[in-house]
Amino acid sequence: MDEAAAAAKNYSPHVLIFPFPAQGHVNSMLKLAELLSLSDVYITFLVSKNIHDRLLHHTDVKSRFSNNPGFYLQVLPREIDEDHPTSPDAVAKFFDSLQIYGKPYLRELIDDKGNRNKRPPITSIIADLSAALEVAQEIGLPFIYFRTISACAFWSYFCIPQLIEAGELPFLGDDMDVRIVKVKGMEEFLRRRDLPSICRGRDLANPVFKLFVSETLQTVGAQGLILNTFDHLEEPILNLIRSKYPNLYTIGPLHTHLKTRLQAAKLTSISAESSNSLWEEDRSCINWLDEQPAKSVIYVSFGSITRVTRDQLMEFWHGLADSGIRFLWVLRPDSIIRKEGEIKTPEEVDLEEATKARGYMVGWAPQEEILAHQAIGGFLTHSGWNSTLESIVAGKPMICWPFFADQQINSRFVGEVWKLGLDMKDTCDRVIVERMVRELMEERRDELLERGAEMAKLAKNAISDGASSFLNLNRLVEDIRRTRI
Ligand code: UDP
Repeated sequence: MDEAAAAAKNYSPHVLIFPFPAQGHVNSMLKLAELLSLSDVYITFLVSKNIHDRLLHHTDVKSRFSNNPGFYLQVLPREIDEDHPTSPDAVAKFFDSLQIYGKPYLRELIDDKGNRNKRPPITSIIADLSAALEVAQEIGLPFIYFRTISACAFWSYFCIPQLIEAGELPFLGDDMDVRIVKVKGMEEFLRRRDLPSICRGRDLANPVFKLFVSETLQTVGAQGLILNTFDHLEEPILNLIRSKYPNLYTIGPLHTHLKTRLQAAKLTSISAESSNSLWEEDRSCINWLDEQPAKSVIYVSFGSITRVTRDQLMEFWHGLADSGIRFLWVLRPDSIIRKEGEIKTPEEVDLEEATKARGYMVGWAPQEEILAHQAIGGFLTHSGWNSTLESIVAGKPMICWPFFADQQINSRFVGEVWKLGLDMKDTCDRVIVERMVRELMEERRDELLERGAEMAKLAKNAISDGASSFLNLNRLVEDIRRTRI
């Protein structure tokens, strides 16, 4: 064996994976980590203390990896303990502390003088944070961005400078239906209201606006870009992205991709049903669902960050109850914005009352399992990207009520481009909720379910042997090994 071959044999690819500390990001990055780990890539998964404790408390992450000596869960220094930042201020604070404490910590972790950690050296980084890219560039380590949003959302962020140059941003009038024409590939259907929510402010010097734009533009400095999507779903936009990022890995839908590969590997140590929930899942809703007729229940969940006012909550409550359709509603205890002096959820919104209205409520649920359940016929969602993909794979049509960030554009694609549901953005009215729930679950039920089934098939095809996401994941693993990306 020559020297190069010997070196290659001894070479152990070791990827540092570093997600933004929120449920959606941690979830998809952990799934990628598991997929890479299946291909014998060492993984250091870096999270804040809060996220670390939640993962160990509410999931079986520890036992899932106890037989895997190549997977390390690493905790950030205590100065960066941001737990699921939900406000723009908290997001900005997190990015500031990354600059001050995160970068020195990363340098030290990568350098690992004297091999204190007793691990193979880190050979590349995958993250969605530009601070990590900056450290990788300093050290000369390959870096791949993993943006956990849709391709259409990523592309719209990327086009913001063109919108500003063309005078489409900031909006000068209040008419939210004005067509936006400078996001290439979306000229025919994009309106002001469909742009990412950061575009709604008139102050372009706003630090959060600037942060989102600069995080996206910095991605061009990376050796590659990973997106959790599949080619058939977003082909025209992916082609535009490829013109800027030739090294694009579309490897989604990740949750199904992981399940399929675990089953193929017949791994008993890691369950294909394992979840990455940061909160305890109330599984009683599965027993309730088991008793409901096929496709009769609408699942209602607004993800891990969305918060509603008491008035909005009441509109949803009455709309759902008045529709007469069965519902399963995830209402996180921290998801209601209470007025001063108000200490509890409105009395009519509780499990007992929900039962009278043919509904069931929980604080957090095993969502992937629920969406796959035969009793579920539709999903009232905030259009977070993980939720959207999970619904697509399960073939369940959606009513979209986007809250912020990329959700506004995801919901436009669901309603107008993919024809997988109804876009309810910017309204919150019991009459509209009731009408849309009936439309989804009764009047257009068969047509939408049929469309959902077609797209679900394409999603599953994408990860099958030899198809686009399957091949792209293999290419990513090869690149991590060969070129030490
Ligand atoms: N989720 C869950 N249980 C729930 C609600 C949500 O497991 O009761 C999961 C859901 O399956 C998804 C993630 O939380 O994977 C939410 O991510 P998404 O991108 O949809 O929205 P975000 O929470 O980031 O707004």
